[in-house]
Amino acid sequence: MGGTFDPIHNGHLVAASEVAARFDLDSVVFVPTGQPWQKSHRMVTSAENRYLMTVIATASNPRFFVSRVDVDRPGATYTIDTLRDLRAEYGDGVELFFITGADALSQILTWKNVDEMFSLAHFVGVTRPGHELSSTGLPTGKVSLLEVPALAISSTDCRRRVQEGLPVWYLVPDGVVQHIAKHELYRSEDG
Ligand code: ATP
Ligand code: MG
Repeated sequence: MGGTFDPIHNGHLVAASEVAARFDLDSVVFVPTGQPWQKSHRMVTSAENRYLMTVIATASNPRFFVSRVDVDRPGATYTIDTLRDLRAEYGDGVELFFITGADALSQILTWKNVDEMFSLAHFVGVTRPGHELSSTGLPTGKVSLLEVPALAISSTDCRRRVQEGLPVWYLVPDGVVQHIAKHELYRSEDG
């Protein structure tokens, strides 16, 4: 499951859990992006902090793991590189599913190397509240769309709440609340 995870929240975790159940997955590997070029209009929290929050959030689930492939690769993150790295790490014997929001997927699939991406993984687009479950822009038969239990949580809202001094308890896992406080993340608008 790819994402910026700035911070990871319970919407991400519910989506991962739901896809794992529906597609009978053995495990879910969360892959925090490196430098997300789509979000270059704002400061993004250091890759290391986003990686650590993802580890903290997934630590208690024996089927959830976190990969450093994107945070360790210099430069902007492209899904094709993520998939090539994961394929190299896990070998040809595993079936890979790339999970992300349906909104993000329709963008990803307009990029280069789409055919190779489809040969490396099956794509699963999850919906979120406020974003219609639409296959517009998605190639038919190549991508599965899945509605997940609605949790109206976004990282943007979590950051804004911290900045305004409002609680994020129960929107993100407890350890993530504590990590945010300990490292004074999201105190100012520019990060
Ligand atoms: P931001 O508000 O900074 O864009 P985000 O909440 O969208 O953050 P991302 O890290 O961008 O979080 O999310 C990764 C993927 O998870 C996205 O493709 C997004 O659509 C999906 N996602 C995020 N929140 C939810 C949610 N509450 N339910 C289902 N999917 C979600
Ligand atoms: Mg987003």
